[in-house]
Amino acid sequence: MTKIASSVAVGALLAMTVPVFAAPAKSQEVRVLVAENQKSLTLTVKGRYQIKLLPSLLTAAAGQKLKTASVAATPAGIRIGGKELKTPGFRIEPAANNDLWMNQSRFRGSLDVRKNPDGTLRVINRVPLEEYLYGVLHHEVAPWWPMEALKAQAVAARTYAVYQASVSQGVEYDLKSSTSSQVYGGSTRERYRTKKAVDDTKGQLLKYLGKVFPAYFHATCAGKTAGAQELWKINLPPIAGGVLCDHCQISPHYYWHAKIPLSEIEEKMNANGRRVGQVLNVEVVTQTPSGRAGSLQITGNAGSVLVAAKDFRVWMGGNRIRGAFFTVKAREDMADFDGKGWGHGVGLCQWGALGQALLGKTYKEILHFYYPGSEIV
Ligand SMILES: [Zn+2]
Repeated sequence: MTKIASSVAVGALLAMTVPVFAAPAKSQEVRVLVAENQKSLTLTVKGRYQIKLLPSLLTAAAGQKLKTASVAATPAGIRIGGKELKTPGFRIEPAANNDLWMNQSRFRGSLDVRKNPDGTLRVINRVPLEEYLYGVLHHEVAPWWPMEALKAQAVAARTYAVYQASVSQGVEYDLKSSTSSQVYGGSTRERYRTKKAVDDTKGQLLKYLGKVFPAYFHATCAGKTAGAQELWKINLPPIAGGVLCDHCQISPHYYWHAKIPLSEIEEKMNANGRRVGQVLNVEVVTQTPSGRAGSLQITGNAGSVLVAAKDFRVWMGGNRIRGAFFTVKAREDMADFDGKGWGHGVGLCQWGALGQALLGKTYKEILHFYYPGSEIV
């Protein structure tokens, strides 16, 4: 009920201020990949629901409630509980806001369950944008942070999701539910204050020259934000980096240290087709404009190669090589990394936003600081 009322309110607001949005101002839906390669899963609905075949959307079943039913692929289709549907996929849609569960997680909206060629299942949650944000925010920031920091995060996350949806036409989903997009866990653990931050900024988006842009964010920049162009093929002033931030020094992730055995680096290099034999040395050889490591030279007893620091981070794990602000020295059989910051460093610095909110800055000031040249509409 509130969903309908609020989306009308947002529509009216946008229609008044941004005429270009007047037509599609109905509550936007995002599609989030919430499970991949599942051999089986369970579905539960606490109340009325419908099951529709995909892609036709013909109703195949309906009920007053669905007691926990196991779901698995069969050669001819998909089995739900005792019933087999001869279909490559189905949508389960609860009536009103009845609780829908997949395994141990509760979801708003509906779920599309689809069969993969290898007989496993993938699941896509279709959920109104604002309700998706309810499920994102508390994973990205702590619910007890000051409201202005939470609101800044809400606007950035909303903008990021709308941007992703705008570039994923023709693709089955807009976002993944992991750190490669934004961390999303359904509605199981939503929190009051993070929901309020979403509601208090309802419909607000960051734009540059009238267009949404990928409003990247990260945990801790450690002094200076990175430019998106240092990592990806995108170059826009609000995410061009170089913002000096001394507000994230309160972050527990400000400094980090990692020791990685040279033998493990050799293994990971081999696994990624960059063979140098037994690794003897690891060295940062170029820096990005923001001063982060740009490329590394890995020298072994059978050769030497250059590796982009961003690839190296992915190979070694983003929780170990937490960012690209680091120096490295090979000592005996170990590579010793001294680093600072956590994340790619582009856009909003979450711990910096916290630091600024504690100084009394508003969410709009925080957003303009990290996304210079952008406007909030
Ligand atoms: Zn920072």
